[in-house]
Amino acid sequence: MERRDYYEVLGVDRTADETTLKRAYRTLAMRFHPDRNPGDNECVSRMKELNEAYAVLCDCDKRRMYDRYGHDGLSGYSQSDIFGGVDFSTLFREFGLGGFGFGNGIFDNLFGRGRTGTRERRRASDLRYNLELTLEEAATGVERVLEFPRRRTCTSCRGSGAKEGAINTCERCEGSGQAVREHRSGIGVFRQISVCGECRGTGRIVREKCSLCEGSGALEEDHDVTITIPAGVESGHTLRLEREGEPGDGDTAPGDLYVVVSVARHPVFERHGEDLYLQQDIGIAEAALGASLPVPSLDGECTLEVPEGTQNGTLIRLKGKGMPILGSKRRGDLYVVVRVSVPTHLTRQQKEILREFRRLEQEGGAT
Ligand SMILES: [Zn+2]
Ligand SMILES: [Zn+2]
Repeated sequence: MERRDYYEVLGVDRTADETTLKRAYRTLAMRFHPDRNPGDNECVSRMKELNEAYAVLCDCDKRRMYDRYGHDGLSGYSQSDIFGGVDFSTLFREFGLGGFGFGNGIFDNLFGRGRTGTRERRRASDLRYNLELTLEEAATGVERVLEFPRRRTCTSCRGSGAKEGAINTCERCEGSGQAVREHRSGIGVFRQISVCGECRGTGRIVREKCSLCEGSGALEEDHDVTITIPAGVESGHTLRLEREGEPGDGDTAPGDLYVVVSVARHPVFERHGEDLYLQQDIGIAEAALGASLPVPSLDGECTLEVPEGTQNGTLIRLKGKGMPILGSKRRGDLYVVVRVSVPTHLTRQQKEILREFRRLEQEGGAT
């Protein structure tokens, strides 16, 4: 594979200082972090590339070598020399990605170590849990206990589904689980291999079912796990909890649990990323004269300053009253969409005043 230029990977120019590098790295890490893109191998390789580019460019010596000789300049360094200078786990915690199940497994994977490097083990299934949160919970972050059933291998029959000794090798396939058919034709012999119909590919025939699991080979158990949802999550964000999926057994490692967040619609606030929108009706006099009005926010009631001469549809920004930004101490903004409502049931006196107002307007008063 063609190796990309490190500066290009980070999208910075060749004079970028440390702060710029870190900012660029952070933005891209938030986008390509595999915890946010589970199962997307493209993101895993983008993340690897990103880590390497950052590890090299934020180290003066390595950067000098790279600037002078390109990728060849680093051929003397081992993988661990290259990554050795950067403490990625601290860095990610700083970005708030630590709370995203940034467990050792995936962390190691990004550097070509860990699961893929060591002896490949069989893994039990991953599980998915859909977690619905209110907007308020997404704003503050929340701790939740998730309860769900998991299937584990039956302790009595160890997954065979048969009572002890009540299992035979399939006679039709002699235990291979395969049915082989041969066709002769003019140009040779074709072998067609399919699953044995007698034992359905297991190679064994159960004479008597295991009484504990009723022949299924698995037992269901209730499982609970406590998770901490960081403030600022959005619908679609996925938290990966290592080894909390289907339990392993013997040679099989446990699977992972993916918690997929969905944030419910709020009756008052509409969310667009880090910003919130709120509609507020005001009267024509308030719009024309200006007013201070109480409006709801996630922090409770706050004051909206409506300036004189506010038009229908005007957006007024309340800075920092939006959603927390994941992995940051900053917050988005609250935008109030002002709707000027024209009164429909006027008293005689109000009508009188408005007629007077119209008369003044026609005479050439204020505009
Ligand atoms: Zn059993
Ligand atoms: Zn068979």
